[in-house]
Amino acid sequence: MSDKTTKKTSRREFVQQIGILGLSVPLSSYTFYNKNTNFESQEKKDRLNKTEGKLGVALVGLGGYATYQLGPALKETEHCYLAGIVTGTPSKIESWVNEYSIPDTHVYTYENFDKIIENPSIDIVYIVLPNSMHSEYSIRASQAGKHVICEKPMALSVSECDQMIAASKKAGKLLSIGYRLHFEPYNQEMMRLGQDHVYGKILSMDAGFGITLDDPNQWRLKKSLAGGGPLQDVGIYCIQGICYTSGMVPKSVIAKEGQKTDLVKFREVEESLSWEFEMENGIVAKGHSSYATGFNYLKAAAENGWFELTSAYGYSGQRGATSDGPMNFIHINQQTKQMDAFALSIKNKKPSIVPGEMGKRDVAIIESIYEAMASGKRVSIHV
Ligand code: NAD
Repeated sequence: MSDKTTKKTSRREFVQQIGILGLSVPLSSYTFYNKNTNFESQEKKDRLNKTEGKLGVALVGLGGYATYQLGPALKETEHCYLAGIVTGTPSKIESWVNEYSIPDTHVYTYENFDKIIENPSIDIVYIVLPNSMHSEYSIRASQAGKHVICEKPMALSVSECDQMIAASKKAGKLLSIGYRLHFEPYNQEMMRLGQDHVYGKILSMDAGFGITLDDPNQWRLKKSLAGGGPLQDVGIYCIQGICYTSGMVPKSVIAKEGQKTDLVKFREVEESLSWEFEMENGIVAKGHSSYATGFNYLKAAAENGWFELTSAYGYSGQRGATSDGPMNFIHINQQTKQMDAFALSIKNKKPSIVPGEMGKRDVAIIESIYEAMASGKRVSIHV
């Protein structure tokens, strides 16, 4: 496509054309010159954000979580802003660049993504793709010299996690996991009560997260893309909750797959899964995850009382109590806090609060749970 052609083509027409071409054209190679373009003001806004000392974030994958949580959260962040997007779906571009004042030169496809190395506006790359794609795109982002936030689960195997950590270290950049609940007040209170032994030593724990999935064709039900079923997607929150409330890691696990009620939908992955950890001090912590029914809790019983969240893992609406009465904290935007905390870690040259090593630990635990489920035997956990 010549420059002359581009000049006569509106952004909408151009986007439609590359859609028809099946994305063979690298988007960021083009600038849109049509009369209605906001290009100059978008560039200006980008420069203004930089002058204010904000770090630029590029979202990779513009699905549900990026669209409804991360994008809006980046409108409220103080230390970072949405500077770029990486997508395989041309029809999404127009609304994103308009909504977030993103210059066209900061729009990438999965194919030309590595060119992000040449874009100084982008400091952080946030991977929000299906689980099986996390390692490839995290590594490519590190190799492009960017700090990385990768969504949970970090990857599908410990060896992938090792490669991701090695790539970020080699680049001299940080690698963080999208563990937003570390920045949420009710979950932070669980950490304080458990780790500081406010009610004495924890004697037992119970964590559960279940959601229902309607679309039978989505990637979450495909083993090659998701790595497994609800354990990978929502059970990981229970693993996290047990670890950050107790301040301990599990030593061993036994696990049992729940009976499938829909053999077609759950052809490739488990429909539900329950497990029991033996923790470092010998106590038992139970976990339960499901794609068939909804539940959401994190509970600890201790020597001198109990503390629990009966709505623990959502984007909002946390609810909690202790044996002394209800918890009462302000509700915040978790993703805003999470991304600002990471931007501050970078600016202050401090480690991430939720680093790649934590993501790797959880992937190792997930591998052990699946091994215990398959073997029916107790499996030692090595993290
Ligand atoms: P989604 O299905 O809504 O979006 C996935 C995106 O990946 C889409 O833009 C899709 O076009 C793109 N994609 C690229 N290649 C694909 C392929 N081969 N198959 C399917 N989609 C493909 O998913 P989501 O809910 O946004 O989840 C994305 C990631 O974010 C997952 O790793 C998920 O675990 C994580 N997530 C985290 C949270 C959280 O609270 N931290 C919440 C939701 C999702």
